[in-house]
Amino acid sequence: MHFKDLGLDQRLLKKIKNLGFDQATEIQQKAIPVAILGKDLLASSKTGSGKTLAFLLPAMQRMYRSKPFTRRDPRVVVLTPTRELAKQVFAELRTLNAGTPYDGALIVGGENFNDQVKELRKDPMFVVATPGRLADHLEHKSTYLDGLEMLILDEADRMLDLGFESHLRSIHNAANHRRRQTLMFSATLDHNDVVDIAKDMLNAPKNIAVGSSTEEHKDITQRFILCDHLDHKQALLDKVLETEDYKQMIIFTATRNDTDRLTEMLNERKLKAVALSGSMTQTQRNSIMSQFERVCHKILVTTDVASRGLDIDSVSHVINFDMPKHAEEYVHRIGRTGRAGNKGDAISLVGPKDWRSFKNIEAFLQQDITFTTIEGLEGKFKGLKPAPKKKFVKKKPTNKKPTAAKKAAPNKPKKKMDKRFYDNMAVGDNVFMPKKKKPAVPSDD
Ligand code: ADP
Ligand code: MG
Repeated sequence: MHFKDLGLDQRLLKKIKNLGFDQATEIQQKAIPVAILGKDLLASSKTGSGKTLAFLLPAMQRMYRSKPFTRRDPRVVVLTPTRELAKQVFAELRTLNAGTPYDGALIVGGENFNDQVKELRKDPMFVVATPGRLADHLEHKSTYLDGLEMLILDEADRMLDLGFESHLRSIHNAANHRRRQTLMFSATLDHNDVVDIAKDMLNAPKNIAVGSSTEEHKDITQRFILCDHLDHKQALLDKVLETEDYKQMIIFTATRNDTDRLTEMLNERKLKAVALSGSMTQTQRNSIMSQFERVCHKILVTTDVASRGLDIDSVSHVINFDMPKHAEEYVHRIGRTGRAGNKGDAISLVGPKDWRSFKNIEAFLQQDITFTTIEGLEGKFKGLKPAPKKKFVKKKPTNKKPTAAKKAAPNKPKKKMDKRFYDNMAVGDNVFMPKKKKPAVPSDD
């Protein structure tokens, strides 16, 4: 289906033509006509299928076709879980709104707060932001959202994983009026937490799911290799780097330390690798991403800070040096390749420490995964047996009297986890989280 059949404004059609796009992708075909009618939307489709335009085009259409509710407040807010993704969405928006009076501001953590206050004072119509920083500006009264017409949440599930729920709710509350339209997009929206927040933030939403998040991505060849230990992983990675014909590669590790260590090792071998992690300053992060986009480096080593949304044309390979803890992050990590109809390769190294995560991913994908081997580097590890189920034995009531010690301290309170410990963690930090508690990860304040 061509874009012109979707009810879009002529001026937008011209811009789409300039971008070189001809046919709308399936999610664009389904989401755009609903969104331009002003309806709320819960939309999912696989990675690299053009979700960004599916929400930016209806947002631009609103600028062209309707009058603002207020004179000064932003009309559209797009929220993303990471600063890098916000920058990318903002760049796409700038291409669309070039030559129009519909200007925008990028409001992300790690950048100078006062400079952003100045930007917001210019009353931009679009704001692309990470939730923590926008919530800070609302608290600081540098902007108001009473006139907000459209709230768009890209990668909504990841924002919840990162502990941004309270920020999302304060943004929602600042713009909670009847006429607001809300759109949620991701490749993985089948999360219970998303359903909960969607109930509160969306008004009778239309649910559009193109395919399912567990469906195999036909443009990505996935391989899984069993490994014995770290040295074995490294030997396998060496072999992959030697034998695969890659343009650019993203290697995901579990922690920032692993990212640094692996980058150092690759650079010792003159392989032009660069590390990206949540602990770097924003200037460092910006410069690394722009160098990688300009192909100054062939390999980016990172954590889940780069698993979502990033669209870099020449990434032909994704390597999971360590498996992700959250099963859905696997889908997003491999989705950094095989985008917009291109082919990609994903190779996952599964060692004993990754086994539990691997089993979760296998269950999430609802597939029986088979392993491949690399000649000469076959390992001994063949997976772990599931732990035997403990038999439930009913405790017999005892007639024993409590001991003197128990009498003295009948109900000793349980030791509580120190919440500050989790608050100080950032994306990619490999810690064991207490059950049922979401990690509060202020990666993008
Ligand atoms: P998603 O958010 O679904 O992962 P993106 O919005 O980042 O995907 O789009 C992936 C790539 O596809 C981008 O490079 C984008 O420019 C390109 N793209 C978007 N729409 C189309 C289209 N209709 N035809 C061809 N390419 C498209
Ligand atoms: Mg996206």
